[in-house]
Amino acid sequence: MSHGKLASALSGLAREVQDDPQLAGRIRAKYKIKNTVGYSLNALVDFPPDDPIAILKHLLVGSEGTLGFISSVTYNTVQEVHHKASAFVLFPDLYSACDSVRHLKASGVASAVEICDYASLRLAQQEFVSLVAELGQAQEGAAGLLIEVKGETQQQLQQRIEAAQAALQASGVRFGGNAGAPLGLESYPFRVNPAETKVFWDFRKGLIPIIGGSRSVGTSMMIEDVVCPVEHLAGMTADLTALFRECGYSDASAVGHALEGNLHLVFAQGFRTPEEVATFGRLMAGMADIVVHKYNGSLKGEHGTGRNMAPFVELEWGARATGIMKRIKAAFDPHNLLNPGVILNDDPAAHMQFLKPSPPAASLIDNCMECGYCEAFCPSRDVTITPRQRIQTYREITRLRGLQQPTQEQQQRLSQMEDTWQYDGDSTCAADGMCAVRCPVNINTGEFTKQLRTAAVDGLDAAAGAASASTSSAWGSRLAMMAANNFRLINGGVPLLLNTVDFFHGLLGRRLLEVVSGTLNKWTNHIVPVWNPYIPKGAKAVSAGLSSPQASELPTQAARATQSGIPRQVVFLPTCVNRMMGPARGDDRYSGSTLEVFTRLAEKAGYQVIVPQGVSGLCCGMMFDSRGAKKAAGLKAAEAITALSLASQMGKLPIVIDNSPCLAQFKSAGLNQQELKFSLYEPVAFTSLFLAPGLDFSPLPRSVALHVPCTSKQAPGLADKFVALAEQCAESVTPTGIPCCGMAGDRGLRFPELTASACQHIDLPSNVTDGYSTSRTCEIGVSNAAGLHFRSILFLFDEASKPKPGFRERAKELPQQQVGQDGKRPSLTNVHEAGGGGGGMTSV
Ligand code: SF4
Ligand code: SF4
Repeated sequence: MSHGKLASALSGLAREVQDDPQLAGRIRAKYKIKNTVGYSLNALVDFPPDDPIAILKHLLVGSEGTLGFISSVTYNTVQEVHHKASAFVLFPDLYSACDSVRHLKASGVASAVEICDYASLRLAQQEFVSLVAELGQAQEGAAGLLIEVKGETQQQLQQRIEAAQAALQASGVRFGGNAGAPLGLESYPFRVNPAETKVFWDFRKGLIPIIGGSRSVGTSMMIEDVVCPVEHLAGMTADLTALFRECGYSDASAVGHALEGNLHLVFAQGFRTPEEVATFGRLMAGMADIVVHKYNGSLKGEHGTGRNMAPFVELEWGARATGIMKRIKAAFDPHNLLNPGVILNDDPAAHMQFLKPSPPAASLIDNCMECGYCEAFCPSRDVTITPRQRIQTYREITRLRGLQQPTQEQQQRLSQMEDTWQYDGDSTCAADGMCAVRCPVNINTGEFTKQLRTAAVDGLDAAAGAASASTSSAWGSRLAMMAANNFRLINGGVPLLLNTVDFFHGLLGRRLLEVVSGTLNKWTNHIVPVWNPYIPKGAKAVSAGLSSPQASELPTQAARATQSGIPRQVVFLPTCVNRMMGPARGDDRYSGSTLEVFTRLAEKAGYQVIVPQGVSGLCCGMMFDSRGAKKAAGLKAAEAITALSLASQMGKLPIVIDNSPCLAQFKSAGLNQQELKFSLYEPVAFTSLFLAPGLDFSPLPRSVALHVPCTSKQAPGLADKFVALAEQCAESVTPTGIPCCGMAGDRGLRFPELTASACQHIDLPSNVTDGYSTSRTCEIGVSNAAGLHFRSILFLFDEASKPKPGFRERAKELPQQQVGQDGKRPSLTNVHEAGGGGGGMTSV
């Protein structure tokens, strides 16, 4: 349909509705409470018929992709009020809690009132319980209200607190979790301490994920979202609670935005048998009847209609209004191509068709409730699939594998899905764990992917529950062990290989190498990496350039200082990736290895650098672990941890790992040596806590980019330290702004489309000259995406700093590692925030 025809159709519909007082009145009445059932008919009464653009814009709100799509959104945010207080008040029953809400609503002083039923209160953690009087002794059926008031000034806040308390008293209900032993309202004071109010709100925000995470395996989490006028909230809640009980949903919880009469009913639903589906149908019909017929409410208040509620749109709105909605859909989408069956559906049983089961698949992912929070951070989301889709695909594969007598169609489907899984599910998962950062039930799909890879490498049978059948073979494990046992050869051979490739780069130019490596990558099924111009040359041997000629190998001592006479010491591990990879061609600011630059930096701050014994054979094991070769990874991690323990005098000296992902790998390797748990740092955390007090930074007159590796983003507060320290070193600092570059070691070279997709949103100002990070492989990936050289942030710290006058002399007087900002010891909080050591520094 042309734009003109659509505009005229919308104008005509608005005119028709506005000329029908009964229909217009019904629409206005329906929107006095929250309502997202069907299309936003308010658009037809709120705007004049001759303004079809305004009507169109408002019809698109909540249209769930059935009328069109929105390509960009501008948020106009509301101003945050700083004077806030929250109280959590207990009531002996849900009815009393709901009843008091209408008094709070009438007072007009509460900015939010959230209701929690007994099932949700039982999930409260100790920290929350300690703030709510007698919550631990609350009787079955008790309920709570979380009430927030705000004020422009302290005085206004206090007035509103008093008004809210007066409203609660006026409601005449009893307070406390036991009807037989009521408490005074003073037992539930309004709290202004942000630490305490945060406990309240974290509990409320975390409730739905907690409920979802605790449901039984094999069920799906359902959230219904009903609304009624607030004066009916008590009655509607009581009726719905009774309905859920009648239908056998013993674990259902009721939480919600009580001030708006909006209740979320959260429950676990199995779709495994016809009986379970029939019960679900009975529940939905009963709920629709109670909400619509008894309380004149809305079946959806904020979550959208969806397929599940589509059959009930007419029941709620009536035939006339539903007919208008159908004409809206036809005007936008005459061929019914956009999300057919969503929002409007003529099948009265559509909510019971095509139900997606959630069969148990693997313990790491069984808790997934398909909320999709994980998807935004996933580097593969635009190239293949997201973590949520990985989990759903694997569930379906598991279900199909478990069928006793699959039909031919099911067999074909299984075979197609297994084939697709290999690339979409496995190969393009960076296993970076960024999905776990956002997941409310802490699912790390990357760990699950690695579990499958391990099963494949170890040759486990797919039917045994974990591996992808097509990749099962034990040769992978043997090959990995061979590489792990001969790691020095790899450490020595890779720089030669890189230098050879660089020679050909100089000789043949860029294009030929790209074509040849791209072809080999295809022929070898992604074993050979695809070359790009930021692939570095080979690194020089690790001891080169150090003032101590024996720094890389310490044959007779556990560890040896690179220089003598400096009182403070730090162990530095140049990781294998930095020992093998040097600067990229044309990167003139890459002046020496990470060991050399760290040594320069540390010496300025009065630190002596120690290199662990046998460094050329050391590796954290990540290159094996990310491929699923757990045994080889474990072997390498154990060797490295032993060497680091010796060099650090069993953890008494701090240890800096120059590549952030390797630090994360050491931590995930288990660290049997407990003493190392508190000694490991990545470069930014260590510089910020221990070197910065001895350095004077002067911002370089450059605009630089910063890429915080995903492993560092997962350490609380560390990303902020990256930016803060970089801003002391350069006049302008721009973070790349992407959650993860998708390099994942060499995966981004073998599957360059993964990194290209993950980096597609890097948008740096044109005056940025170069970039910094703490992961060599990420540096290659973002360099190639941004078209400029990224290198270790240690180079930036070194270039921008000089020794603080007199600091080294003062430092000599102080005990080892007890020098912090202004000569004070760094606080444990700082160390925790740095994420570098996971605890306080062990001091000697
Ligand atoms: S894995 Fe993703 S979809 Fe599943 S529960 Fe976690 S965040 Fe939600
Ligand atoms: S580990 Fe990374 S790539 Fe894999 S699913 Fe999670 S976020 Fe996506």
